[in-house]
Amino acid sequence: MNNSSLQIIETHAHIYDETYQEDRDEMLEKAFSAGVSQIWMPNCASETIDGMMALAEKYPNQCFPMMGLHPCYVKEDFEKELAIVEDWLNKYKFIAIGEIGMDLYWDKTFVKQQEEAFLYQCQLAKKHDLWIDIHSRNAFWETVNLIEKNADSNLKGIFHCFTGTLEEAQKAIELGFLLGIGGVVTFKNGGLDKILPHVDLTSIVLETDAPYLAPVPYRGKRNEPSYLSIIAQKVADLMECSVEKVIEQSTQNALNLCQ
Ligand SMILES: [Zn+2]
Repeated sequence: MNNSSLQIIETHAHIYDETYQEDRDEMLEKAFSAGVSQIWMPNCASETIDGMMALAEKYPNQCFPMMGLHPCYVKEDFEKELAIVEDWLNKYKFIAIGEIGMDLYWDKTFVKQQEEAFLYQCQLAKKHDLWIDIHSRNAFWETVNLIEKNADSNLKGIFHCFTGTLEEAQKAIELGFLLGIGGVVTFKNGGLDKILPHVDLTSIVLETDAPYLAPVPYRGKRNEPSYLSIIAQKVADLMECSVEKVIEQSTQNALNLCQ
C-alpha cells in the first residue's frame, strides 16, 4: 500500500516495551512512513508509566498515552496502583483509560480484585470524560455484565484485540463499543473470518497490540505498528471492500471516540 494521503490510527501498541530498546526510533519512523499518523499507548501498571510518558513527550503529535491498570497486573497492591492511576489522571490529559478489564485466562486468584479495579476505573472514565480500552480474555460476558450492571451507560470505548464469537461482537456493538482488530485476523483459525463479513465497517478500529500478536508472515516474531497495513489489507479482503475504505473508516471511528 502506497497512498500517502491515508492516515492509519494505531489504537493499541506497547511501543514503550523493552523489546524496542535497540531500535525504537527507527521502528517508529518506519510506522510513520507506512502511514501511521497516531499511535495510542495503553498503560499496564505503574512500572510502565515512565517509558510511556517519555514517548508521549518525544512524539507529542503522534504518540498518545492512556492511563490505567491492566487486569493481569491486579495483585494484592491494586489499591495502591489505582491511586497512582488516579493521581496521573488529575495532572495529565490522557486519550483514554486503558487497558482495563478482566483476564481469566492466566490467573483467577485475583478475580474479585480485577472486578473491583475494572469498576473503579470505569468510574474514573466517567469522571474524566474518557473512553475505555478494554482487555477481556476468557471473560467477555463477565466484562459485559460489569458494564451493564454497574458502569455508566454512556461509557464507550474499544474491546481491544477482539477475537470472540459473532454473538459477542454484536453484544459489544450494541453496548456502543468498537471492536479492535489486530494480527489475529491473519491467523489460520483466528475466527475473525466468521465475524467480519457480518459486521459494519463503522464498528471496527485497527491495532497491533505490539510487541505481541504479529500478523502473518511475522507471526511469532516481534510485532510493530508498521504492520498495520497488513492487518488493514486482510480486513479489506474479509469485508470485501478496498483497503483505502477500511483505513478511512477505521480512522474516522477512532477519531469519533475522542470527540
Ligand atoms: Zn495490550
